[in-house]
Amino acid sequence: MNPLYDSLFGAHAGRDAPFLHLAGGGTLSYAGFLAKAAQIAHVLDAQGLEPGDRLAAQVEKSPEALALYAACAQAGVVFLPLNTAYTRDELAYFVENSGAKLLVGDAAKEGDLAPMAEGFGARFLTLNGDGSGTLSEAAAGQPESYDTVARDGEDLAAFLYTSGTTGRSKGAMLTQENLLSNARTLVEYWHFGETDVLLHALPIFHTHGLFVASNVTLLAGGSMIFLPKFDQDAMIARLPEATCMMGVPTFYTRLLDDDRFDKGLTGHMRLFISGSAPLLAETHERFEARTGHRILERYGMTETNMNTSNPYDGDRRAGTVGLPLPGVELKVTDPESGAEVPRGEVGQIEVRGPNVFKGYWQMPEKTAAELRADGFFITGDLGTQGADGYVTIVGRNKDLIISGGYNIYPKEIELVLDEQPGVLESAVIGVPHPDFGETVVAVIVPAKGQAPDEAALAAACKDSLARFKHPRAFVMAEALPRNTMGKVQKNVLRDQHAGMFA
Ligand code: ATP
Ligand code: MG
Repeated sequence: MNPLYDSLFGAHAGRDAPFLHLAGGGTLSYAGFLAKAAQIAHVLDAQGLEPGDRLAAQVEKSPEALALYAACAQAGVVFLPLNTAYTRDELAYFVENSGAKLLVGDAAKEGDLAPMAEGFGARFLTLNGDGSGTLSEAAAGQPESYDTVARDGEDLAAFLYTSGTTGRSKGAMLTQENLLSNARTLVEYWHFGETDVLLHALPIFHTHGLFVASNVTLLAGGSMIFLPKFDQDAMIARLPEATCMMGVPTFYTRLLDDDRFDKGLTGHMRLFISGSAPLLAETHERFEARTGHRILERYGMTETNMNTSNPYDGDRRAGTVGLPLPGVELKVTDPESGAEVPRGEVGQIEVRGPNVFKGYWQMPEKTAAELRADGFFITGDLGTQGADGYVTIVGRNKDLIISGGYNIYPKEIELVLDEQPGVLESAVIGVPHPDFGETVVAVIVPAKGQAPDEAALAAACKDSLARFKHPRAFVMAEALPRNTMGKVQKNVLRDQHAGMFA
């Protein structure tokens, strides 16, 4: 028995139905994909990997890269996918920290990565974006079936490092049951089935593209249009074949910027899902006006997979992340006392359920600080839950501004600023201030060719916000610093402007 492999992959043994529709045309069937995975699993054995060992992979998105995940599941190896943007030094941290026995990477980086891996006692194989490399060469002669290694639901399936938006990435230890329970819930909640064709342009080193998108499709037995990255023309060209799409908010804003993206192109679609970062209510509304579809926004994280989702049939409410998913308990607590706050009040979001990870790898103190003994995980996000159960995220605990003893939630101010003429987007941060401890600074990205008027921005804040929330300074910027998942890095902004009042 190997619950993850059996449910996601083994269940499709011998099936000729398409699993991946490839970027260059053509398809890969379930049977063909499983054969690839089995061959790779033999290579893992030959490399001396044993159940429970870690395999780190920094590889471009390809069918082979996904088959590597399946191979790890089949061989009982813990899969550790890594952001393709990471440098050698960053990778060294992950390889050393995880104790990986094998690192798989692009041949172009071999000169850099192989000696680094060796230094930590790990082997190195190559896998390139086109599927070539020493891993595939070694796999080519192997049998197309493999005796699945027995695993338990409580065994680790993956170490997934967090996006590093608020600090150094942490390795979240995820079990088979963590992944599988969430996939089951999502398939049902979002009505996924065999006839679904998911337009997949997300990276597969992150929970969104790997566990939400791929696991859900695999469990439902559907197929994916597997694009190596988000490319506007490719998205528009392939939409007619899809039934659903998952994306980060920037996918949606970029599609809306394209006149070809209209009712005609999207009329046949069943579902659009957004997550990983806040979707502006304005984007939600523009999307509906343009396509007639209401985007379904959900909320999750590396450590927990998905926690809340707007309903499939009910009210998909703009600006909220919907309701706790079945099986997930959610509460909003006072960060100081840990006690639940009254409904509707802001506090820290905590979650408990079969989706919640087993802790951070080799970070017992961090684990103890965030994962309570009773199983509740302190997400680090602040939000509210309304009387009707809908959850709204107001920002991250670490981004909370405390000025003169008052708590200030940046999002409240950003919402006002984003509405002003000439403003494309904004990020509000707290910077050190000699009198107030911290004070409010607004970083404004002007819309194309526009120059928003600072006095007008200040006036708008004055109209709608209490005085202690008014930004003390407005800074114009060409763009906000974002990490590769499209998340705004407020710590970078805070560092940039730290000296403003100091
Ligand atoms: P790190 O923990 O390393 O600082 P990270 O939290 O960005 O990085 P992820 O696990 O990739 O790493 O992201 C999870 C976070 O993304 C959540 O805690 C939340 O802040 C944010 N997020 C995800 N979905 C949504 C959403 N729909 N709306 C608002 N925020 C979201
Ligand atoms: Mg996080």
